[in-house]
Amino acid sequence: MDLTFSPEEEAFRQEVRAFIAEAKTKLPKAIGVPESATRSKEDYLAWHKLLFQKGWVAPAWPKQYGGTGWSVTQRYIFGQETAEAEMPATLPFGLSMCGPVIYTFGNEAQKKKFLPRILSGEDWWCQGYSEPGAGSDLANLRTRAVREGDHYIVNGQKTWTTLAQYADWIFCLVRTDPSVKPQEGISFLLIDMKTPGIEVKPIIVLDGAHEVNDVFFDNVKVPVENRVGEENKGWTYAKFLLVHERSGIARVAGSKRAVERLKEIARTELVDGKPLIESGDFIHKVAELEVELAALEFTELRTLAQESKGKMAGPESSILKIRGTEIQQRITELTEEAVGYYAFPYERAMGRNEYPVGPDYAVGAAGRYFNMRKASIYGGSNEIQRNIIAKAVLGL
Ligand SMILES: Cc1cc2nc3c(=O)[nH]c(=O)nc-3n(C[C@H](O)[C@H](O)[C@H](O)COP(=O)(O)OP(=O)(O)OC[C@H]3O[C@@H](n4cnc5c(N)ncnc54)[C@H](O)[C@@H]3O)c2cc1C
Repeated sequence: MDLTFSPEEEAFRQEVRAFIAEAKTKLPKAIGVPESATRSKEDYLAWHKLLFQKGWVAPAWPKQYGGTGWSVTQRYIFGQETAEAEMPATLPFGLSMCGPVIYTFGNEAQKKKFLPRILSGEDWWCQGYSEPGAGSDLANLRTRAVREGDHYIVNGQKTWTTLAQYADWIFCLVRTDPSVKPQEGISFLLIDMKTPGIEVKPIIVLDGAHEVNDVFFDNVKVPVENRVGEENKGWTYAKFLLVHERSGIARVAGSKRAVERLKEIARTELVDGKPLIESGDFIHKVAELEVELAALEFTELRTLAQESKGKMAGPESSILKIRGTEIQQRITELTEEAVGYYAFPYERAMGRNEYPVGPDYAVGAAGRYFNMRKASIYGGSNEIQRNIIAKAVLGL
């Protein structure tokens, strides 16, 4: 693998840097705040909209649907530069999950109706997969869709639905045939969140943030034209989407920036009068983290190189998910260790009105540590990813 960049690629890097520098002057302040609870819907969308205006919002999409047409290396450079500049990630639900399902399996009318609005940020999507009793065992889902003429009538409950409180649309896995093998009776529906009978109830998490929800469906009428692909073939589209979701969760470039930040903290914090970074124990832990991260980066590059030859990532995306999220968690653990006692005052993201205790870099360290516990659960828990690797990659 040749890892040197051509002059054209370096010129592209400069173009990305210039764009980011200008964008930073236009973004609201809350964008730089790590706690999601302090962001409004407009804050979330501000960066998305600037990228859309530039034509850069969907680097992974085919050009014909509004993608950038970038090479894999350009996408890599863009990811590196945005992470280095600590730009917020765009929300994955439309761009990385539902969009690819629609342009791969949807009909022309669906592509025309939904794809431009995902790109522009006009439609905010959320993911209706998990249910009480159907998480790891997703095929066990019970939300029922019964066909009546040109509509489905949907009844049931989805849970852990991230940011559904802002959503205009939800993509849902529903049971359309309960009489067959679980995987064979599922369909993929696109549901307008304004349809009568939908209720969104907040689930407030440990750091006080309103990040996830329960979504209830009570006789919700969904036009049949909003079904993606064939009836009862939804499991195929669901699995395709999960591969996209899992690859995106690795966040290698963001972790590289976070490790640099951790090292800056360790240079400032003193132990027995010496910088923490010089402590043998701590520097070994950071070195171990950097080695893991470099290995993950090469794995990601290998996946991207395959993609550039037209081979989409398959179950290998589970490797990226496991290692990527373990590293993200490890960074929050070592940050807590580095800031020591200053991690104890545990500031809640919402309703905080006291002055933070300790240096700026310690603020929110505990909140981030707790919040990041989610990463080994969402997108399919890491235990389940190991099962996938055992069966589908190693053939055990
Ligand atoms: C912050 C957050 C956001 C989320 N956002 C969304 C969203 O927007 N939309 C959505 O649809 N879902 C979302 N989820 C749900 C997520 O996909 C599920 O939580 C996940 O799939 C695990 O399912 P579960 O919570 O039902 O746990 P369970 O399936 O009940 O698992 C409980 C534990 O048992 C383990 N386990 C289960 N089965 C096995 C097995 N066969 N082998 C080994 N171990 C096993 C699991 O690893 C886990 O540790 C989100 C979750 C979180 C935490």
